[in-house]
Amino acid sequence: MEWDRTTMVMAEVEAGGAVGLGYTYASPVAAELINTVLGPRLAGQNVLQIEAHWTAMNQAVRNIGRPGIAATAISAVDIALWDLKAKLFGVPLGVLLPAARDKVAVYGSGGFTSYDDSTLQTQLGQWAAQGCKWVKMKVGRDPERDLARVEAAKKAIGGTELFVDANGGYDLKQSISFAQQFARLGVTWFEEPVSSDDLAGLRLVREKAPAPMAIAAGEYGYTPYYFRAMLEARAVDVLQADATRCGGISGFMRASSLCDAYLIPLSSHCAPSIHLAPALAAPRLLHMEWFHDHVRIEQMLFEGAPRLRGGHVAPNDRPGLGLEFRRQDAIRFEV
Ligand SMILES: [Mg+2]
Repeated sequence: MEWDRTTMVMAEVEAGGAVGLGYTYASPVAAELINTVLGPRLAGQNVLQIEAHWTAMNQAVRNIGRPGIAATAISAVDIALWDLKAKLFGVPLGVLLPAARDKVAVYGSGGFTSYDDSTLQTQLGQWAAQGCKWVKMKVGRDPERDLARVEAAKKAIGGTELFVDANGGYDLKQSISFAQQFARLGVTWFEEPVSSDDLAGLRLVREKAPAPMAIAAGEYGYTPYYFRAMLEARAVDVLQADATRCGGISGFMRASSLCDAYLIPLSSHCAPSIHLAPALAAPRLLHMEWFHDHVRIEQMLFEGAPRLRGGHVAPNDRPGLGLEFRRQDAIRFEV
């Protein structure tokens, strides 16, 4: 897991003298879809009827292909619609949505396989010192080094729980073997041990992994039907959903309802500034990912981006998402 750039595609929706903003982390192609396919569908419509717009946008991409890039474009627009609706009512989005809590526990997330051990220890150790109950590192690129890396990480985080994310990097037998070995080292979360497209494989690892280790997946979910299939297959102990991919706030709350129906906890993936409000609302939310790269970008680009306090984040009292785009700071990164 290495990259040298991160692209954010931002959507703005204007109505009633206010502007809502939403974004997704995706290819610039999503912007083209917003401008040419989704935007024209919404022009002149009643901004408050978000459910109608969500359906119309999904219908508009039927022949383009809804999962993938189209879903990311829809997500950005849906988030902008929710931000705008809350702004028009003059309330934080967390107040407009059905609030279940007033702050959200986060887990620090980074620990890339490209780091040396001391970089890994410093990053995870900082989150532990800031009160995070859990921290997450990547595994699966070089399986021979993974146990030593996990041991090094454990040394740096004291009593904080360690999560690992293989991004589907192991095969089935390796996954079952690593589940036992990681569990012995105290790892309590094993994300995408095998590919998240292998639901039967995930389920088998879930059955073989010693309690309390949780098997988690779902970050590549673009539709409610993807989450339903994953839950129906009993493939995960915790479902992950990403509002910047799965249809925005509207899509994330659908994933939340599915988790409720299947009695499975939910965890949000990436983009913490977007997820704070729906994470306050999702009844079975376990925690929110505090992904270092997106934390960095969002604090750079938005006034009001959430800050970590005692392992939690809480909303500010600005209306909507509580974010103000720093246009002047962002302009030099424009693509
Ligand atoms: Mg992951």
